[in-house]
Amino acid sequence: ALQDDYIIEAEGLTKTFSGFSAVRNVNLKVRRHSIHALIGPNGAGKTTTFNLITKFLSPTAGCIRFNGEDITALRPADVALKGIIRSFQISAVFPRMTVGENVEIALQRPLGCSYHFWQSERSLGNLTERVDQLLDAVGLLGYRNRPAAGLSYGRKRALEIATTLALDPEMMLLDEPMSGLGHEDVERISELIRKVAAQRTILMVEHNLSVVAALSDNITVLAAGQVLSEGPYSVVSQDPRVVEAYIGS
Ligand code: ADP
Repeated sequence: ALQDDYIIEAEGLTKTFSGFSAVRNVNLKVRRHSIHALIGPNGAGKTTTFNLITKFLSPTAGCIRFNGEDITALRPADVALKGIIRSFQISAVFPRMTVGENVEIALQRPLGCSYHFWQSERSLGNLTERVDQLLDAVGLLGYRNRPAAGLSYGRKRALEIATTLALDPEMMLLDEPMSGLGHEDVERISELIRKVAAQRTILMVEHNLSVVAALSDNITVLAAGQVLSEGPYSVVSQDPRVVEAYIGS
């Protein structure tokens, strides 16, 4: 495949904490406009990998390219400016504000010039319009004036996605988007993630394997800090090493 097919290319990614390798020599390629899942037993290195991509942690070795550009040495804020946003980074839902105000604040978050809404030429009128568009996109338009605290878990998750979308990320990292959700909300959020992925790229850590099976174009399975298997669900779910890692954990 052409190099351009991949939005993220991590090579030899390694993170060592006082002699212990949480992530060891991981190669990870994420296709543009795909939904890519990172799975694996507890302690596999999924969170560490997320933190390495967003630069919350600096790798001990290896490099990360985003759109072909080496971002290994960037600070977290600069990674965010490039367009890689992890949902919880900005997803703190302010419970006493309304749903609409939460999105409005996200739109005005001082991430940097290119994302900085109020520094753009757009008027306040357009800000309201943009809030409506985002709420509509996540199915919360009818909840605009309600306090965020009153939302169901599923709708709070949708609001978190709206506040992330407010930053117009090219790539969205979702940390267990389905945790704590009931069946109906899982369906709703799945639909939303699919919609988002039509224009952006999603990398998610998710424990719910039926969700992973239904949503992912590609999966990287980590175990003990290394890549155990990768490919579409049909491939990795048949991989004996994967089966063993899950049963053995
Ligand atoms: P996962 O998200 O897949 O459960 P993590 O990336 O959180 O796995 O952790 C991978 C391994 O690295 C675990 O054994 C964990 O205890 C260890 N680890 C993670 N962060 C640190 C740290 N800051 N210091 C020491 N060990 C860590």
